[in-house]
Amino acid sequence: MTISNRDNDLWCRFACKITKSTKQRQHSSLQNYVSLTLFSILLAVATSQMVSCQSVSASKILMDNGLSMDNVTSSLTSSTNNLSENEDHGMGLFPKIHPHMSGEKGIFVNGYLVETANGVVAIDSALTASESKALKAELDSINKPLLAVLLTHPHPDHVAGVTYLVSPNTSSSSTPMHIPIISLQSVEKIMNATEEAKRSQWTPIFKEEWISKWTYPNQNVKDEEAVTFDGMTYRVHDLGPGGDSDANSIWILENEPNVAFVGDLVFNGHHPYIADDHILDWLRNLERARDLLANITTIYPGHGESGSIELIDSQERYLFTYIDVLRELSGDNSTLTEEAKAELTQRMEEFLPGGGLSFLIAQSADSVAAELAAAAANG
Ligand SMILES: [Zn+2]
Repeated sequence: MTISNRDNDLWCRFACKITKSTKQRQHSSLQNYVSLTLFSILLAVATSQMVSCQSVSASKILMDNGLSMDNVTSSLTSSTNNLSENEDHGMGLFPKIHPHMSGEKGIFVNGYLVETANGVVAIDSALTASESKALKAELDSINKPLLAVLLTHPHPDHVAGVTYLVSPNTSSSSTPMHIPIISLQSVEKIMNATEEAKRSQWTPIFKEEWISKWTYPNQNVKDEEAVTFDGMTYRVHDLGPGGDSDANSIWILENEPNVAFVGDLVFNGHHPYIADDHILDWLRNLERARDLLANITTIYPGHGESGSIELIDSQERYLFTYIDVLRELSGDNSTLTEEAKAELTQRMEEFLPGGGLSFLIAQSADSVAAELAAAAANG
């Protein structure tokens, strides 16, 4: 489908229409194209050149891939609710969710401890030895047995610290306890395929902070399978490629208060890693997640504060903006010049002021440019 000048005019003219409806997702491509939400308008004002009527080429690629911005709801700022650990949802003492939010050296990754009356379930872990020991110390301070570890995806910042979690003490050389470590088979497979290369790549940089021996899943689950520990049922949803990894899953707690652990489908307040050649799949997965998480009270992301369903919208806006700016700067080429990467970084920092991990903006640029160029060529 070719976007004519007339369609482009329509985009501009209809930019003042405020529309938001789930049913709109079913509308025609042209309607999707012109039906901008309040957010789109605010975004256009706030970021001036970022989302402009010149970005037809980028929008066409998105449309050709079944994606559009019309589902993005209104609000410029990412939403967090910062619920206190003890006051979650007013649903009583359990489950009590303890987030472990790593600092900058641990690339702001989140591991979670879900405490119930008789034990704890961990979801993901931490990257560095220091943060993993801190997470283990938090687990020990709860003084209840670790019942299971659930993994969302195979990146080191989420899986490396499992070695400490399942250790009888904080020494990683101890014989691990027999704890169910549960993931999709695809997650385990990528851990196996990448551990050695990651160790070689990162040990010289992280030195003793790099966890030299990972502990692997000992139980696989399939899409929509559930596991139950201490009366709490966790159901996994296999998202495949398109989070920040080639294998992504989210875990939904089906008991009240119906929360979800979404791994790196969402970076809240931080710049995401987008260099795995799946930014378009990521946008599709956000659409899917919007339905899966419709009744969720709180989303616990892989990086950043927890929040409402608005976190899905915020992540979607970030990726759309990144695509628009990158397309403008790349001139449809599959790589960016160093100057263009610097400008991309500057503009995304303006879009997300104070966001952590800003080095990832430039690092992901060529991968995203190549993916979009290939999508345009195939479209
Ligand atoms: Zn991560």
